[in-house]
This record gives sequence, structure tokens and C-alpha cells, in this order.
Amino acid sequence: MTPYLEIGGDYREVVPGIHLLELPLPFSLGLVNVYLVRLDSGYLLIDCGLQTDACFQALTRAMEGLAVDWKDICRILLTHIHPDHMGLAPKLVALTGAPLDLHRADHQLLAEITNLDRHREWQREVLAEAGVSPEMIALVHSSLLEIQQNFQLLVPDRLLAGGETFPTPHGPLTVLWTPGHSPGHVCLYDPARRVLISGDHILEHISPNIGWQPGRDALGEFLSSLDLIAGLDVDLILPSHGAPFSGHREWVRKTQEHHAERCARIVSLVDGGARTANQIAERLWNRSLSPFHYRFAIFEVLAHLEYLERRSVLCANRSNGVCHWACGAG
Ligand SMILES: [Zn+2]
Ligand SMILES: [Zn+2]
Repeated sequence: MTPYLEIGGDYREVVPGIHLLELPLPFSLGLVNVYLVRLDSGYLLIDCGLQTDACFQALTRAMEGLAVDWKDICRILLTHIHPDHMGLAPKLVALTGAPLDLHRADHQLLAEITNLDRHREWQREVLAEAGVSPEMIALVHSSLLEIQQNFQLLVPDRLLAGGETFPTPHGPLTVLWTPGHSPGHVCLYDPARRVLISGDHILEHISPNIGWQPGRDALGEFLSSLDLIAGLDVDLILPSHGAPFSGHREWVRKTQEHHAERCARIVSLVDGGARTANQIAERLWNRSLSPFHYRFAIFEVLAHLEYLERRSVLCANRSNGVCHWACGAG
């Protein structure tokens, strides 16, 4: 038995009609929370956990403990398409017969990721342009093989755009589009009870990973999504990882500060002679990262570089297949 099987499986009603179900993960995040929300009729399941036996067993135990039948789930919604959130979706859709909701931008991204050969080639080009060596690119690819098998093409019954509502006995629960961590990330907001189900958009002790996406300003979108949340009245945040917490405006302020500091540091590294995303990542992290984490580091740097280029703080010179960065508007 692997150690992660021994944790997870707890469930509790965190707000009347909203149950938090902890499911185990075999990596450092430890647990993912999925939420079972009582609707006027039946239940809404928010996120599905990773596609593992351990996750499914923990979910099954929680459902039995709550005396909720699979068929009582009348809707499934994914906050975003990362494997710890969508993995069990096909199985749970089959078990419950419930329609599936997913934001249209994440559905589009999923279609790209699940085209494995094309996605691999695209990633190779992005990493090469970032100045990553062919040897490291090969290591990154092998490290991602397993995780890529966790992405499956889903056929949602409804493509969300934000603004949709679910009727609950305590008032409507509204879908908020909060792009950044993924392009189609959504949160759910209960304005009457000032509760936010925040997915991976807001996690108490972790700064959510913001990875570069072609044609998008992922960091700019994330910061705007934080402004959106800061404008809401929220007494309780129900995140996908970690315990419920409060103080969202303070969290938003600190996270915005963190990204402002990272941007300033990147500008000073470019000013000091770092030219490629790879050179910047090496200086920023200053310790050896596993190929798996290296990929996330590069994409995080690229999201910041894109943000700074769009605001004319840095400019890019793309030639000979490698992108070189310099200060100024170019
Ligand atoms: Zn995520
Ligand atoms: Zn997550």
C-alpha cells in the first residue's frame, strides 16, 4: 500500500448543504477537495478527483457515509481540466448519468492537450524557443508521459461561459469565470451566504501556478480574476486544496504583490544579462528542479515575460528558433 492511500477520505458539511470531500493524491499536494452541493432537487458535484482507485474509493466511502446515491447527483461541474480535478469525470458521468459542465476555454485546451503527438511537438518548440537544451526537453517529455495519460477528451453537456446559476435551498450559486490558472477556470459564488468555492484560483498556502498559453496573457488574466474576487463579499473560501479559510482580500493583495515582485526580479535579471526564459528560470529558482517541475518553472517564467512584453516593459527578439529578451519597448 502506498502511503497516500492512508490519508484522505474525510468528509464534512462545511456550510449547510455544502459537503467537502477530501480525496487522496499521490503527489505533494496531498489531497484534493471536491464539493457536493445540495440543489433544490438532487446534488451538484464540483470536481471529480484524480483517476485512481484510491480517489474513487474515498469518494465512494464519503457518498455512502452521507447516504447519497450516485443517481442523486444530477449535475457535475469541473472548475478546470487539471487531472486532479477531472480524472474521474468519465467514470462519474457514467455512474450518475448526470450532465457535465465545463468552461468552453478549458474544453478547447483539453482538445489540444489530448492530441498527444501534436501537443508534444508544440511543447518541444516552446521549450526550445525558451532556450532549454534538447537533453532537458527529452527529460521533460518523459516526466510528463504519465501525467498526460490522465487527460482524457471529455464531451461536456454544457459549455460554460460564466454567469450560469444553480438553484439551491439557500439561494442561487453562480458560476464566475476566473481565467489564469487555466484559461477556463471557474469559481462558484453563493452571494447570500458569502461563500466562494474557489477551485485552484485561490489556495491559502500556495500561489497557484500560472503557466503560459499561446495567444493569451495568462498572468494578466489571473490578476484581473483576482480583482474580480476582491470585489466580492466573501466570508468563507472553500478551496480545492487545503482547509476552508477567510480573508480573501488580504490573500489577493499578497498574491498580487508576489507577482509584482517576480516581475521586478525578472526585469532585473534581464537587465543583468539573462536573455532566455531558461536563463531566467535558472537564476530565479537557483536550485535544481526535477524535469517535471522544470517544465512548470519555464511556463511560469514565460507567462511573466508575456505579461511584461504586452506592457512594453520587455521586448522579445525571436530569431534562429530561440527567443531573446531585452529591456524596453523594442
Ligand atoms: Zn489546477
Ligand atoms: Zn488542483
